[in-house]
Amino acid sequence: MPDTWEISRARPSPRFLQPVATDWSRSLAAAIRDPDALIDRLALPQELREPARRAAGRFPLLVPDSYLRRIQPGNPADPLLLQVLPLDNECHETPGFVTDPVGDHAARTAPGLLHKYAGRALLVATGSCAVHCRYCFRREYPYQQEPRRLDDWLPALDAIAADDSLHEVILSGGDPLMLTDTRLEHLIQRLAQIPHLRRLRIHSRLPVVLPDRVSPDLLQLLRSTRLTPIMVVHANHPAEIVDDCRDTLVSLVQSGVTTLNQAVLLQGVNDNEDVLADLCERLIDIGVLPYYLHQLDRVRGAAHFEVAEARGLELIDELRRRLPGYAVPRYVREVAGAASKTVVEIA
Ligand SMILES: *Cc1c(COP(=O)(O)O)cnc(C)c1O
Ligand code: SF4
Repeated sequence: MPDTWEISRARPSPRFLQPVATDWSRSLAAAIRDPDALIDRLALPQELREPARRAAGRFPLLVPDSYLRRIQPGNPADPLLLQVLPLDNECHETPGFVTDPVGDHAARTAPGLLHKYAGRALLVATGSCAVHCRYCFRREYPYQQEPRRLDDWLPALDAIAADDSLHEVILSGGDPLMLTDTRLEHLIQRLAQIPHLRRLRIHSRLPVVLPDRVSPDLLQLLRSTRLTPIMVVHANHPAEIVDDCRDTLVSLVQSGVTTLNQAVLLQGVNDNEDVLADLCERLIDIGVLPYYLHQLDRVRGAAHFEVAEARGLELIDELRRRLPGYAVPRYVREVAGAASKTVVEIA
């Protein structure tokens, strides 16, 4: 058995020897979970209180301080605030908006394992996140059924090991970077032992919402597996790519991890050519490639975020006119049962 995936803690490269400024678990513990606290902290209108409490009863509010600092106080229309503030709209039923819009249930081939597309399979590594995005398509995912301890992962790992058409495993969730380094390391080691796997992809919003999480140890962990690491982060608005978030994305890129961004097209947040162009350019400027612009998945409670596909196509057209080809994300939607993400095109 090759041991190239063994974690070498003894010799981190010099660039990563800076002391860790803060401990991410403390940042997480200090995150705001109470709608009233959010409204007070940001001096928002009082009439938002009742609806925020009600909507948070269905899907709790969660926002860490790092993200909060990027929100403009006193502005109920702030595009970052809209992603985290529970609103009355979430409690309205809209026909066509359902609990499992993307067919996750049908694609579940073992506990925690979703296999939809050729060559890659996705592990629901945890149900936790560091932020609760109000538009999340897994708002109502039954995470309690999924593995928690390493042993619980054995059926999924066996299924991956038994299928040599799989070359890539995607750690998703929830947010896989909510796992501790130790758990992540164990999981990655187990995956690296499966000979036909070549790549490890991590889908995480933590580099954007809780940048502390990307510690020198984590970077070292990603660099030391024999699997090629790919990080797909999730930023929707240029005002997210500032300060500690920007530095963190730079550190990922500089440590040699291919880093891509996926955004969700959201009414009132980024359904605007200037905003999207600015987002893509900021990403490119730090070496992060815009990968996907997702049409909203039609999950219950998120109908007010939907942007018509005709509008999305106009926006992409405008991006093509303004930006280099590599800076324009693919505009896709997820169709339950399809063999890949579906590129949105003129009907
Ligand atoms: C989105 C998704 C993927 C990744 O698709 P790519 O087009 O390769 O980014 C893989 N598995 C599942 C279950 C997915 O939902
Ligand atoms: S971080 Fe991802 S999984 Fe978690 S709430 Fe946001 S979109 Fe959903």
